[in-house]
Amino acid sequence: MNREELQVYCRTVLDDAREAVFIFDEEGFVVYANKSAYAETKYRDLSRVCISDIFPMAAERDSTPDEWVELRDCDTFAYRENRSCYPVKLSCSRIEESPYIAAYAVNDSEKAAAVEKHNKAMEEAEAATKMKNEFTANITHELRTPINGIKGMAEGLEATQLSPEQEEAVGVILRCCENMSKIINDLLDFSKIAAGKLELENREFSLDKLLKDTLAIHVSKINEKGLKLIVNVSGPVPERIVGDELRLGQILNNLLSNATKFTSSGHIGVELSANRSYGKGEVELFFMIIDTGIGISDSEKYKLFKSFSQVDGSITRRFGGTGLGLAITKQLVEMMGGKIGVDSQKGVGSTFSFTVKVREAGNLGARLDFPEGSFEYSNAVATMAAQGSGPAQIEDYSTFQGPGGGYGNSSQNEEESEEEDELLSAEDITEKIKTELEKTRICMDLGAWEKAEGFAENVRDMVAKTDPEMKSKAFSLLLNVRKEKIVEAAKLADELMKKYGSE
Ligand code: ADP
Repeated sequence: MNREELQVYCRTVLDDAREAVFIFDEEGFVVYANKSAYAETKYRDLSRVCISDIFPMAAERDSTPDEWVELRDCDTFAYRENRSCYPVKLSCSRIEESPYIAAYAVNDSEKAAAVEKHNKAMEEAEAATKMKNEFTANITHELRTPINGIKGMAEGLEATQLSPEQEEAVGVILRCCENMSKIINDLLDFSKIAAGKLELENREFSLDKLLKDTLAIHVSKINEKGLKLIVNVSGPVPERIVGDELRLGQILNNLLSNATKFTSSGHIGVELSANRSYGKGEVELFFMIIDTGIGISDSEKYKLFKSFSQVDGSITRRFGGTGLGLAITKQLVEMMGGKIGVDSQKGVGSTFSFTVKVREAGNLGARLDFPEGSFEYSNAVATMAAQGSGPAQIEDYSTFQGPGGGYGNSSQNEEESEEEDELLSAEDITEKIKTELEKTRICMDLGAWEKAEGFAENVRDMVAKTDPEMKSKAFSLLLNVRKEKIVEAAKLADELMKKYGSE
């Protein structure tokens, strides 16, 4: 192809291009426009029209050629001869070895219309959600008044002389009111969180009292079901903290209610420790609520923290509930700067762990009024605790030696734990290693490395004593946990878990 032929071809391509192409001189006057440029701008004659009349918002009227050349994919508007306009993406470039500049304008109307449609749909959806949330908030608020009325009247009746049948009927009314109140509160919280209206309080309170009050609420129900409540507060945990007492209590209550609801034999465990390495009085509390209940399969776990989800439809019929509890719990934990996770095995039990960040307050030396190590929290303990008796006066603290082989306690006296281990059968030790491994894994997932290290140390000690073959693996696990190498540590934990019979 010779030069002249090429020029002709190029001109044809340019004339028929789908983008509007304008070539203008250094003073900004159009010297060439292709067919699309005419079709879109509706100018009868574009020659000698000033480029800044067509794209007045892209550059100043007295812009220099260099300023025009800087435009790349600029979102602007093209003006027609009748001064109506349409959106375009505009780019300019200098034509080599010439005083001319080429402007390429892609008509963006369709895209702009699609964006506008999308934005409108989003706005409508947001407005509908807002309305729905407001409606839920209003209606739940309105429902509270009659429920409280019924509850008040039933409580009044309960205090009068009643026949056994009447007493039973009043009891049923009160329990129904309680259930209804829980559903209403869940819905109210849910709509508040969805509307971004839930605000946390930051007030000083006694963590000791909160924990004891919470345990006191649950211990009777747990014991009524023939289960044990095992508590383990390990290491120094500050007594007075600044945070949202009500909401922290709500998280614990929800996890404890679920643990009790879904467990029919064995025990419920509550573990608490604190990580104070953040400085400036910031403390990360680490809780674990452990149960030996129905468990949750891997395929069902992902649904757990989603709103309105119960992992299995038949569970709703058997146990009731709205499926909102864990979704709210997760949001609250995250609002408190923490994370929540679950480890569970179908038919074996579940461990829900969470962290929250609070500030240490008051007398910085004060510590929770709980004994070191695992002990069974009974009704007697709860009553005495409520009366303000210290743990030294409570004689029936017993170290838990349940089917899981006891609870991890990294700060436990070494001699004591050695003696304990000697008393355990090989089967018990395997169980205990498994439990410690599971806890290591959960803590790693939550990023609670200090805690994970404590559990990994327990694993190393127990494996070293009982299983020389796996000793080096357990040691490597500890080293990798210390270095916070999640991939390597997870791999080793999984290998060890396989060895000790966990999936
Ligand atoms: P609900 O108020 O309906 O209990 P949650 O969000 O608290 O709602 O729990 C959702 C579902 O998660 C429960 O219906 C149950 O299927 C499962 N679940 C929660 N906690 C446990 C647990 N400790 N053991 C077994 N399943 C649980």
